[in-house]
Formats: sequence, C-alpha cells, structure tokens
Amino acid sequence: MTNQPRPTVVTSMVEARGLVHQCRAANKRLGLVPTMGALHDGHLRLVRECTTSCEACAVSIFVNPTQFGPGEDFERYPRNLEHDLDLLAAHQVDWVFAPWDGEMYRKGHSTMVQPPKVASRFEGECRPGHFEGVCTIVLKLFHAIPAQVAYFGQKDYQQWLVIRNMVRDLNLDLEIARIATVRDEDGLALSSRNRYLSEDERRSALGISQALRGVADRVLSGESQVASLTAGMQRTMRDAGITHVDYAAIVDAESLDDLDELDRPAVALIAARVGATRLIDNQLLHPGR
Ligand code: AMP
Repeated sequence: MTNQPRPTVVTSMVEARGLVHQCRAANKRLGLVPTMGALHDGHLRLVRECTTSCEACAVSIFVNPTQFGPGEDFERYPRNLEHDLDLLAAHQVDWVFAPWDGEMYRKGHSTMVQPPKVASRFEGECRPGHFEGVCTIVLKLFHAIPAQVAYFGQKDYQQWLVIRNMVRDLNLDLEIARIATVRDEDGLALSSRNRYLSEDERRSALGISQALRGVADRVLSGESQVASLTAGMQRTMRDAGITHVDYAAIVDAESLDDLDELDRPAVALIAARVGATRLIDNQLLHPGR
C-alpha cells in the first residue's frame, strides 16, 4: 500500500494533550479531522485539505455511541483501524486519536450538549438525540485536541451547520472548514454505509444524486418555485425505485427554514432509505447564478 510510516496513534486524552503541547511549542498550526473511521476518499479529501493548510494534522477515529439511536447501526458500523492507518500513512497525517469508548465517556458521564436551533429539523427529527450526541462528542474532541481549524464534509451539511453554530454560540476559538462532497464517478456520494448496498440497491441509490443534480440544473435554467422543484426530486427518486424518503426539501441554507421561492442561497436536503440502508446527500443552490 505505502512505505510511508504510519501516523502515531494515541488512545488517551493525556497523550493527545501532550502532542498538542508539542505542536504549540513548535508554533505549528494544528488541524483536526474528526471521523468515525472506515475511511474512504471523502474523508481523505478532508485530510488533504488539512495537511495542505496546516503544519500538523490530527485525525480522530471514534465510533461515537451517543449519536446512534436504538435500532441504528452502531454495533455493525464498519471498524478497521489497521486499514485506516495505512490510508493515513499515505497522506502524511501526524497522529491519530483513537480512544476507546471508556476514555471518551468515563463511568458516570451524564453531561450532554444541547444543539443549536438548526438541529431541530431533518436529521434532528428523524434521529432523536443524534445531534446531542454529535455536539457532545465534537465538543469533547475539540477539548482533547484544541486545534486551530477543524474539517467537516459538506456531505453532512446539517451537521456542519450545527457544529459551526455551536462553535459560534459557545465562543470557541476555532475555524470550522466545510469541504465539498466527494462522489463516485456515477454521482453517488461516498459514505461508509455504501458498503451495505447490494448491486441493485446501489443502482437505486443513484436516484438521490440524480434528484439533486436535476434540481441544480433546473435552478440554473431559472426555475425558482420550491414546490415544483421538490416534486421533481421526489419524482426522480420514485423513478429510480426509492420508495422510502425520510425528507426531500429545499430550505434556507443558513436557517434551514422553509422557502416558497428561491430568492436566497438555499440547500436541497435528502434522506432516503434504500433497502435497509439510510443515505443522506445535499446540494447547495444559488439562485441567479
Ligand atoms: P464520518 O466518519 O461519517 O463521521 O465522517 C467524517 C467526516 O467526513 C464528516 O465531516 C463527513 O461530513 C465527512 N465526509 C463523509 N463522507 C464524505 C464525502 N463523500 N465527501 C466529503 N466529506 C465526507
């Protein structure tokens, strides 16, 4: 795979803080890429951005139990630290923070972060408690590894917005970068969960990115009625054989509030189940461009 040395792996907060102190002492700009592992090219794009603009790059790998609801895929979520470390070796990552559950959530842990308002709809509605878990773990990671910049993917647009707003609201001294979604050649957004899809399901799943591309094309050609654009997304997914859509909506890109007309920057958000796999994707829409 690569002959480059693997990143240093640390599993405890104390070790992580030690490395942060070393970075500080060397006056290095530190970037953090939080992940749940099972790395793919989407994660690696974040890593590349980090290693390009920071002098030190830390990647965290932690499958966070508190952001999974009952009946979700926490137990079977793919975990392969050895493979992840090989991938990161090829990307000049300095160190990986891979704590075990008991390190992040000590016995008796009971404090959870109340997420900002933009967490209330969409994923927040479909997955009660999800964003409490996300905000809590991300804030804990920001404390464990006080970086100058943290990298998140547009693939999880609402998550990026939730974290950016949390950082603003709580006055954290940290830049939150948003990195464009990496897709397979056929348009499917890369996701650790794509590996659950059968061949037929994967074909159907393309309906999601097709629906989003369709809406972007219609906006480019001047369409601005949200009801009609949304109906178009639903039609494209139905035609692709997707029968279970959690949401397909076009909303204000900052507040995630409803819009009748595209008269400001907006985002199209989709969550759909293909077989037993739940997929999400989105597309930013800039009217008049
Ligand atoms: P996860 O491991 O799924 O929690 O994702 C870790 C980070 O990688 C999050 O900020 C995701 O938004 C980002 N990410 C996941 N998939 C992609 C993708 N296809 N393109 C860009 N970023 C991604």
